[in-house]
Amino acid sequence: RAKSAGGNRFEYADEEADARAITRHGLTTALPAALERGEFFIEYQPLVHLGDGSVHGAEALVRWCHPQHGVLGPDRFIPLAENTGLIVPLGRWVLQEAVRQARFWQDEAPGGHPATGPLRINVNLSPTQLHHPGLVAETVDVLERSGLEPGALCLEVTESALIGADDDLLKPLRQLAEMGVDIALDDFGTGYSNLANLRRLPVSVLKLDRSFTQGMQQHPADPVDIKIVEGIVQLAHSLELAVTVEGVETGAQAQQLRALGCDTAQGWYYARPGAPDRIRSLALVDAV
Ligand code: C2E
Ligand code: MG
Ligand code: MG
Ligand code: MG
Repeated sequence: RAKSAGGNRFEYADEEADARAITRHGLTTALPAALERGEFFIEYQPLVHLGDGSVHGAEALVRWCHPQHGVLGPDRFIPLAENTGLIVPLGRWVLQEAVRQARFWQDEAPGGHPATGPLRINVNLSPTQLHHPGLVAETVDVLERSGLEPGALCLEVTESALIGADDDLLKPLRQLAEMGVDIALDDFGTGYSNLANLRRLPVSVLKLDRSFTQGMQQHPADPVDIKIVEGIVQLAHSLELAVTVEGVETGAQAQQLRALGCDTAQGWYYARPGAPDRIRSLALVDAV
């Protein structure tokens, strides 16, 4: 494996990179059995109204409880699952589990919170799942079996997955949107998409990427970021899209983003991702 660098000298690849590659390979081959053994679990992070901080829903975020490496975040294994196609059954499991959980929250408190109504659930979709022909039928099936109304589900698709999307790719999303499922454009503002293109997409929510929220952390806030967020909010609202902000870590950020007209937020300032019971206690604390 050593490669000759001329003469008698050899250069070795850096050991850490090797270890990472081996782990990547090891993780990739372990994925299918992990799914069968039930090593994946979901944490839920509240989505709150910026106006009053009330919880109206949660995003499902998958984790892998690996027998040797401990709990792994999705950035470690979602790309691997994408490459091997395992993302399709894994994503199906997440959707099923998250929808079941949302229905469970609703059953516990049928009216939900007096101010915000029944809790809603956001689930991430990867590009491969978007291309999978079974997406619409499987989603309909999961909703019907759980009894959750389509309007309580929001599917998050990254902006980059939809750049240059043709009608074939948008069709399943349109069908889902027509059924009442919300579609959110995740990590918005990082994908260099043509803003005029937004009109064409069946989305109802923009999730502004965390990098903009970070710009609000500085004192004073980054004036360029402020201008950009202002522009995005204006455009979004004129297209009747709601704006959610990711990665809110401080009260100052929340205040600034509220002042800029953002509608909802998510971040450590409100709550870290956690067990499903946490969502119920946060959301319904003064309900019923
Ligand atoms: P995302 O959908 O943009 O999710 C938001 C990420 O930001 C989550 O990271 C969340 O834990 C993190 N986060 C939330 N609030 C804060 C904050 O205040 N500060 C900081 N620094 N981070 C915050 P996580 O859980 O590691 O997930 C990373 C990405 O993995 C997600 O980004 C999503 O793209 C992907 N992912 C997670 N679950 C799934 C899934 O079930 N299916 C698919 N296809 N992708 C998933
Ligand atoms: Mg997301
Ligand atoms: Mg996001
Ligand atoms: Mg993100």
